[in-house]
Amino acid sequence: MASEFDLIRRYFTRPAVNAVLGVGDDCALWSPAPGMLQAVSTDMLIEGRHFLAATDPEKLGRKSLAVNLSDLAAMGADPRYALLAIALPAPDEHWIAAFARGFFAQAGRHGVELIGGDTTRGPLAISITVIGEVPQAHALRRGAVLAGDEVWLSGDTGGAALALAHQQGRIHLGGDDLVGCLARLDDPEPRVELGRRLRGIARAAIDISDGLLADLGHVAENSGVGIDITAERLPMAPALRACADADLRWECVAAGGDDYELAFTAPPACHAAIERIGAELGLALTVIGTAVPGAPRVTLRDVRGQPMQLARSGFDHFGA
Ligand code: ADP
Ligand code: MG
Repeated sequence: MASEFDLIRRYFTRPAVNAVLGVGDDCALWSPAPGMLQAVSTDMLIEGRHFLAATDPEKLGRKSLAVNLSDLAAMGADPRYALLAIALPAPDEHWIAAFARGFFAQAGRHGVELIGGDTTRGPLAISITVIGEVPQAHALRRGAVLAGDEVWLSGDTGGAALALAHQQGRIHLGGDDLVGCLARLDDPEPRVELGRRLRGIARAAIDISDGLLADLGHVAENSGVGIDITAERLPMAPALRACADADLRWECVAAGGDDYELAFTAPPACHAAIERIGAELGLALTVIGTAVPGAPRVTLRDVRGQPMQLARSGFDHFGA
């Protein structure tokens, strides 16, 4: 049976390119670029909580890095390095090889080097730490919104939550709808290039992991502003447009997690510049609302401007 060190050597060791020292010593070493802030973030994925045991390991490798890269994107940071801590119930080399394939495919697309980690036996769990860099003045902080900013969203939301509703048997999807929604759930695209292009243009950004309204709530709270969202403007996953269940539709679009789009705010003077970025990236960028003075809260409004009530606003691991 392969030892812990065999597994690390076989599946998780690549020659250091930018790092001074990668996998294989007590610590990794790297040299930060002058004038840049280091951005660092960690996300865990636990079997039974974030994914099912039967999940395709290659997709899991891609997704586990993607959700971490999404946090760097939301800061406007360039991805540089990653650390991977993984607990495995057994040294199943077929599984590990597929996971590593997915992980390194995603890493390669974003110029990320795996420089260390930890490998242990235990219930299947993955914890990744990513390190990126952002120019001193340009980090897209959650607390930087000013009243009057336009609130933007990349792509659309609701597809991942709809795929989950399908898997839970709450609805039935077929054909292109199923394929499209499963891709959103299993294979999210971190908006790294968008985050990079928004430096110096957007004031604040967050990635949508727990649900649009819940995540915007953190932005409102940190910035001390209100956020008004116009429900009619929310771009929804194509499969949702035809969904007859209005409650489910709003729940997926406004409260469904796992989409990993970016919500960001910018002064109206930057509107045209942002539209150009969207056109250049081939990514829909939509104004969905405005930051307003007053108490920190997020209000979803219907066409007449009346506040709408949703049964739930987002995902909370310790919520009711
Ligand atoms: P230590 O006992 O000093 O913590 P380990 O035996 O845990 O060292 O790890 C040996 C080397 O392999 C270290 O450089 C560590 O960062 C790296 N490493 C361990 N697991 C992984 C992994 N899953 N992915 C990448 N690097 C890993
Ligand atoms: Mg260790």
